[in-house]
Amino acid sequence: MSFSQIKDQDVARRLLQGMCRRQRIPSGLLLWGPEGVGKTLAALEFAKAVNCESATGDACDECLSCRKTINRNHGDVLYVAPEGKGRLINVKSIEAMTEMVIFRPFEGGTRIVIISDADRMHEAAQNKFLKTLEEPPSKTVFVLITTSPRRLLPTILSRCHRIRFRALQMETVAALLQEKEGCSESRALAIAPLAQGSMMRALDLLHSDRREVVLDIVRRLSSGEDPLMISESFATHLQEKEKQIANAIKAEWSGKKKEGEESQELDKEALEALVVGRVRREAREYLRLFDSWYRDALVKTVDGDDTLVFNRDHSGDLQKNISSERQALKLAAINEAAKYIERNMQSQRVFRDLFFELSRPALKRDRATGG
Ligand SMILES: [Zn+2]
Repeated sequence: MSFSQIKDQDVARRLLQGMCRRQRIPSGLLLWGPEGVGKTLAALEFAKAVNCESATGDACDECLSCRKTINRNHGDVLYVAPEGKGRLINVKSIEAMTEMVIFRPFEGGTRIVIISDADRMHEAAQNKFLKTLEEPPSKTVFVLITTSPRRLLPTILSRCHRIRFRALQMETVAALLQEKEGCSESRALAIAPLAQGSMMRALDLLHSDRREVVLDIVRRLSSGEDPLMISESFATHLQEKEKQIANAIKAEWSGKKKEGEESQELDKEALEALVVGRVRREAREYLRLFDSWYRDALVKTVDGDDTLVFNRDHSGDLQKNISSERQALKLAAINEAAKYIERNMQSQRVFRDLFFELSRPALKRDRATGG
């Protein structure tokens, strides 16, 4: 019943459900694939199904075991996730977990250890974990979740049964936005294509003003406004975002303290490191939206087909009067900017250069100036 919650991942769902039904479960499972496509949800449904008292191979959501798992107080479902300044899974967390799994499952069933962002395991932690995985305690299943399996030791990978998750269908994202978020149909249909198969990205687009900001900038760029003016106002916007991010991180940390979670003091340096990481992510998401816009403009220039366009709700605003060569150059500039962001270049500067590049109009002038 509840494996049906996992949308679009038919292969993964069938594999997990089959394991539960036949009660033949490997001691290591690796759920891998892009962010926001249902891996964590699948791990939780799996944890419920394995120990469900209905013994149907799926979770009933009603028995004591299911309810405990839902409320996150099942004694045999353990969670390991990155923490602390570096957002890493350190040796200590792995040690704490391995000390627990020595004992037989408390509630008599199978113990499930869910390791989120498993690739964030520190190298020493991976080695420590490997030892446990090599001689797995009986009645224990490790479920590793990751977007980047390559960051895990090959020796860990080879001991896990790998299950791949794929990007969600656009229709699924639109339906989930309406069902779970109460989003209007038109807004859901506008966001879904831009989310590129990730529910996490869809929610992010729904709750942020990022898209409106990008639409405003491309409009100003195409109307011939001075790119310097545009980059100055965008720089102010980014600074504002940075402040919001810093405040959100501070609030998260003080919240953790109240919950009594063991946490290090958040000093200035650590705060900065966390802020830089999230600002970079923000910049990346902006670039992704710019990329989708100019990609759409190119698609429209080349074959004028609206069904292939991501920004469908604004397809009338896409500039078609520019040569495809120039459109391709714009896309290349965005790609270049993304590389600079990854190399930690200051985002204000990267975007300023990008806006200059994007504001260059027709190819005629390009030829005259040689570039
Ligand atoms: Zn149940």
